[in-house]
Amino acid sequence: MATNYSSRRQAVLQVLQSTKSHPSAESIFEQCRLLIPNISLGTVYRNLALLEERGEIIKVANVAGVDRYDATVTPHVHRICPCCGRVDDVEVSDNLRDALYKEADDKGYQSIQLTFYAKCKECEE
Ligand SMILES: [Zn+2]
Ligand SMILES: [Zn+2]
Repeated sequence: MATNYSSRRQAVLQVLQSTKSHPSAESIFEQCRLLIPNISLGTVYRNLALLEERGEIIKVANVAGVDRYDATVTPHVHRICPCCGRVDDVEVSDNLRDALYKEADDKGYQSIQLTFYAKCKECEE
């Protein structure tokens, strides 16, 4: 596999697109190393910043001091577990979603981030 700049960026994007776990840069880095063994953490950070700038990914939230990333860029709602830091996509009622879209549309907001905090199933046990 060629390891030029664009294939590194592709690897970062590919790793992020292949998961629903909203990983941190460190865990994206671990996955990228399986594709490109000599990739560095700095390269992953740079590419994440670039992809975010280009609107191909979003930074979801900062959980316990660590940024978490998402390749789903359409407006959607997250639930974060304050215990283990798990980040999930959650469904919301059509009313709430429509209201959010309308508000963003009316005001010309670029993106919407709505986050609920609740313990995940594992932490509740
Ligand atoms: Zn949890
Ligand atoms: Zn998400």
